Amino acid sequence: MKYIFVTGGVVSSLGKGLTSAALGALLEQRGLKVRLQKFDPYLNVDPGTMSPFQHGEVYVLNDGAETDLDLGHYERFTSGELSRLNNLTSGKVYETVLAKERRGDYLGATVQVIPHVTNVIKERIYQGGGDDVDVLITELGGTIGDIEGLPFLEAMRQFALEVGRDDVLFIHCTLLPYLKAAGELKTKPSQQSVAKLREIGIQADILVCRTEEPMTNEMRQKLSMFCNVPAKAVIEEMDVETSIYELPLALKAEKIDDLVIEHLKLDAPDSDMKVWHDVVRRLKAPSHKVEIGVVGKYIELQDAYKSVYESILHAGISNDTNVRIVRLDAEVIENDPAKYLSTLDGILIPGGFGDRGTEGKIAAAQYARENNIPYFGLCLGMQIAVIEYARNVAKLEAANSTEFDPKTKFPVIDIMEDQKDLTTKGGNMRLGACPCELADDSFSFHAYGKKLIHERHRHRYEFNNAYRDQLVAAGLRIGGINPERDLVEIVEIPDHPWFVAVQFHPEFKSKPNAAHPLFANFIASALKYKK
Ligand code: GLN
Repeated sequence: MKYIFVTGGVVSSLGKGLTSAALGALLEQRGLKVRLQKFDPYLNVDPGTMSPFQHGEVYVLNDGAETDLDLGHYERFTSGELSRLNNLTSGKVYETVLAKERRGDYLGATVQVIPHVTNVIKERIYQGGGDDVDVLITELGGTIGDIEGLPFLEAMRQFALEVGRDDVLFIHCTLLPYLKAAGELKTKPSQQSVAKLREIGIQADILVCRTEEPMTNEMRQKLSMFCNVPAKAVIEEMDVETSIYELPLALKAEKIDDLVIEHLKLDAPDSDMKVWHDVVRRLKAPSHKVEIGVVGKYIELQDAYKSVYESILHAGISNDTNVRIVRLDAEVIENDPAKYLSTLDGILIPGGFGDRGTEGKIAAAQYARENNIPYFGLCLGMQIAVIEYARNVAKLEAANSTEFDPKTKFPVIDIMEDQKDLTTKGGNMRLGACPCELADDSFSFHAYGKKLIHERHRHRYEFNNAYRDQLVAAGLRIGGINPERDLVEIVEIPDHPWFVAVQFHPEFKSKPNAAHPLFANFIASALKYKK
């Protein structure tokens, strides 16, 4: 097994995660089994409780782990399935060390960063791969120079010493800032950041330079000399034109995969990258166009609905369609939904917590239902659809979720009896992949083309089965059921062009070259019923 470590310098938000994911895609194209993982130096035990305002979306894995959104990039760019072993934070490391200390595992020794903390990190590097993996890519979050990052870098240095330098490759991502006044790109910050790495005992093997302007040969030589990296291992990473899915091809053009394969002494035939050429070709020259409104609460943030936006894009690729996403703030549209929604070809309501904006979302679901606009509800977006249907069709006045109105007369969305006990203790989310059996002749069954599916969850509240008969009698279709616990997973409106609302998060299982069937069908019907 071979190991690649990806670190970042100069500034944050360099797109290290995407670079790592794209490299994974390149190596996979060459027939290697790749797995990616992320080490995050912050002290939170996991990203589950972190605010989308600061941190973007929480990405959920099959096994229910709540992880950093970079794991979403990893799963979208490569086929390897990730587990809770593939995201580690300092908080988790210290939790492990302290638990061992309390148990007496250290036999009274003084517990220290080296070796106790670094040992826990190294163990996770060994565990991160698994038998079926050829290359494990570990991305370290944060920027060189961060205090929290030091134990991770030290663990990586020790690890390379243990397994041998032939089996380990260090990639350092930096920025070449463009100085307008000087009219040139500057290499000094990169030099200093590589020097900082060397201070810790790590020599970068490949330097990936983010830049807005092309790098001159002279600069490449300069970076090579000052950073102690061969000139051909100084990689230019220009901003991509239209989409992040161009990145694998851009890095391929710089031959980064050859460098990796050569350094790690891997035997892997070259690839024509057909899959990625196809994705980019469809993305750049679509035949059709639709407009999809996403009605949410974190609309101004780039990353809060990351996987949702990506999945819509994938569905556009598979339908040969350019999808313009119109981001709508639920609170803004609440009083006059028609003004904002009437020209849309589809409406999507993503997941969410807390009651801010819920009335606006309910108004949007009602507008979609009444005006035959394809509707796709995800998690909270499903609960919203149920509340709307209960209020306006089944005439259960002021029906609500007990999350938003604990005293509602008609709690059509509620915490289920068998979970109530857990709720008071806090740790009660339904997380990770659950089975769902689809109803014959439902929109969902037509989309998936099979009866039994597995989708990922992250929520507390459920469709309240006490209202099932009443809502079905009023015309709502139950599109899918969790066969183990008899929970409603999908609701649909049969006499509507396409109205599907799911309790799970399909956006975590879509890929650019394999759009999720529900997203693909949603965009297909938006196209079909386009005004
Ligand atoms: N707030 C809702 C719940 O907890 C929905 C969660 C979500 O959309 N992820 O059930």
